[in-house]
Order: sequence, then C-alpha cells, then structure tokens
Amino acid sequence: MLDDEKCLCGSGRLYSMCCKPFSGQGIENYKKEIDSKNYIKAYYIAVAMLSDYLEDVRKHTNRILKDNPVIGRFVLHKDVNALSELSDRIFHCIPKGNTDNWGERFEFIKGLVDAEDWKNECEYYQLLYYELNNDKGKFSEQIEAIVKNTKVDVHTDQRMLELLRSVILPSGQLTELLKLDDILIEKTDSSLMKLKYKFDKAIQLALVSDNTSAKKIADEVMAELEKGILYTEDELYLQDVTAQIYEMYYNFDPDIKWLEKSLQIRDLMKTERFNEAGKAKYYTDIAYTYWKMGNYKAAEQHFHTSLGYEKTAFAQIYLLDCLIEQKKIKNLKQYLESVEFENMGVDSIDFLVIVGNAAIRLNDSDSIETIKSYLKKMTVEVPYYKLCLKELELELEKKSGRIMRLLSKLSPLKEYIIFQPQVNGVGINGEKIIEDLLK
Ligand SMILES: [Zn+2]
Repeated sequence: MLDDEKCLCGSGRLYSMCCKPFSGQGIENYKKEIDSKNYIKAYYIAVAMLSDYLEDVRKHTNRILKDNPVIGRFVLHKDVNALSELSDRIFHCIPKGNTDNWGERFEFIKGLVDAEDWKNECEYYQLLYYELNNDKGKFSEQIEAIVKNTKVDVHTDQRMLELLRSVILPSGQLTELLKLDDILIEKTDSSLMKLKYKFDKAIQLALVSDNTSAKKIADEVMAELEKGILYTEDELYLQDVTAQIYEMYYNFDPDIKWLEKSLQIRDLMKTERFNEAGKAKYYTDIAYTYWKMGNYKAAEQHFHTSLGYEKTAFAQIYLLDCLIEQKKIKNLKQYLESVEFENMGVDSIDFLVIVGNAAIRLNDSDSIETIKSYLKKMTVEVPYYKLCLKELELELEKKSGRIMRLLSKLSPLKEYIIFQPQVNGVGINGEKIIEDLLK
C-alpha cells in the first residue's frame, strides 16, 4: 500500500497514519500482547494483519476469479477463511468504547471482492459488530436487508443462520425458525450439533405451547443422547451443549437425574482453557442447575464464584433468590441498593419476578409498589414477554406465592436469545470456527 493511499482496513485514514506502523507483525506478536493483557496494542496489530492480508486479496483474488474460475474458487475459499480468522482476532480484543465503526469498515471491505461468499462473510461481521455494540437500529436494518435478499438455502453460511435464528426467535416467527433449524440439522456434520438443533425445535414448539410435539422431539433427542458420548474430552463447546440439553430436558421430564447428569458433564470440563467471561458463564450454569434442583446453598456458592470472575446481572439476580430462599435477607431495599445492575437486557423480566417474589415473601409493600411502577414503564414488543409481565402484575396484585413458577416459563427462552459472541471459549461455536479453519 502507498503511504498516501486510503488504508485497506476501511478506516478512511491514509495508510501512513493508520495501519503502517503496525504492519508486518505476525501472530506471535499478537499473542504476546494478548498474553500480557495489552489488548489495545493487540487490537492495532490485529487490524494491521487484516490490512496486510487485504493487500494480497486486492492484488489477486478478483483477477484469478476472472482468469481461472476453478482456481479462483479455491483462492476465494482460502480468503474467506482468512478474513474470518483475522476478524475474529480483531473482535477478540476490540477495546471497550472503541469508536472504529466496523459496520462501515466491512462495507468497504465487502467491495474488495466480487463474490457472494466474501460479501456474506463481511455481512456476518457487520452483524456481529452491531450486536456487540448494542446498535439495535442498525442491527435490525441489516437483518431485514439480509432476510429479504438471502434465499435461505444450504449454501448460506452456518454461522449466519445461527445469528439469524437468534434474532428471529424473540419476534416469534415460528415457521421461519423451524425452517432454519431444519437447514442447520442438514448442514452440520456433527451428530451432536444435529441433536442440538433438533432440541431447539422442541424448545421453540414448547414456547408456542405445542407441548405434545415438543415433548416428542425432546424425547427423541434424549434417546439418542443416552446412547453414548458424542464428544471428546477436549471439545468444550460440545460438552457445554450436552450439559445444556440435559439441564433443559428437565423442563420436559422433571426427574432430578437429568440435572445431575448435566452437573456431571460440567464437572469433567477442562475449565483452565476459559477466559474470565467463560469461567463466569461456566459457574453460573452450574449454579443455575443447583438452583433448579432447589439446592440453594450450592447455588449460592457457585453464583458467588461466578461473580468473582464477572459481575453479570443474571448471577446477581439469581443469587438474590438463593438468599431469599435461605432466609438470609431481611431488608430487600438495602440489598437492592448494594447490587449493580447494568445492561440487564433480557434478564430484566427475571429480575422483576425474583424481586417480586422477595417482596411478597418479606411482606414488603413498598417494594411491591415500586415493582408495579417498573412494570408500567416497561415497553415490550414480544407478545410472549407481554403475557409473562401481565401475569406477574396479577400475581403481585394477589401477593401470590406462586409467582416463581413464572420463571420456568422464562428461562428456556432466555437461554436461546442471549447471543454469546464466540470469544469466551464457550460461546456459540468457537470450536466450530476453528474446525472450519483447519479444513
Ligand atoms: Zn488501517
């Protein structure tokens, strides 16, 4: 790249003022910075590695695609994989509050190659960026454009489908979702992932109260799962998936042995490979399973461990319930003031249910009134949530002790709408990406 040329990373700045100072550095330097937690420096190296690679892409890819389509396809495949690996590295260490707009940058990068696969890959990272930055407007805009343009067929990228699914789910377009799941089942070459997508169908059917079909599918999945272990001891993501299916199957068949199995699997997972966020999720998952068992003491311990790694709203909310159940809290207001609730997002409904329950159990009328006023202020688009909130309002009115059963309706949904970026070591399909890259 020439010094006075616009940088290929899409920043809009001149190359000499942008990626040049970090150019030519390899993966070793990047890893070194990550290991010493110099994330900002690692980020600049990662961006420059992308620019360096894009320079190659600009020189060769379009030309080869034109001159020799057969070799061109091969080169393109390699380029798309490289783009994915390089972008994952950037997203892994993108600094908090960073204003580099990767939505726009990928728009520019998209233009470098005239091939659908390349453009799809760029769109995937645009979406990921908007999702990570909570740019809901941009995110939905992009999704709408993609849904309109993409013929959903087996050539569509699997991760794109997963992402689409996580977005369509809350809006409740069941037919679309089931169709996507069928494609995912067909596309994946892992028998366990096939079961996961099949189980997703069961969950979705349960959410629209088609319990008979849901139970039938869930039972089939469980019968397959019980036949034998479908992962190796290094496949953390698949272990996590299996543990989750067992835990959620308890919602279809309330026998405590399913929860115990889920715990056994998590117990054998090699957690040293997780980063802080991964560990926080790991201990929260265990704690939540104990919570479902009614073992509030063990749940409390594990939520505490999880919070030591990262303060998530989910763990704080459920920890509150563990304390209430063990009668360890007398003053709700004081507790609420001591808790940090940021970005509660989808957890806010659980929060209201649990605090509502606490207020009723402690006979704390002031808090009940406060919760009712929260409820009035909440705007919820998803019909399913609206119904849950309505029910909560009624229970609060009656000061009913049955309020907690609302949670069992909420949690399966929540599990499936939290989109975990694949940087934690246990996110959506980190293992799968690595596997694709190796291919
Ligand atoms: Zn640059």
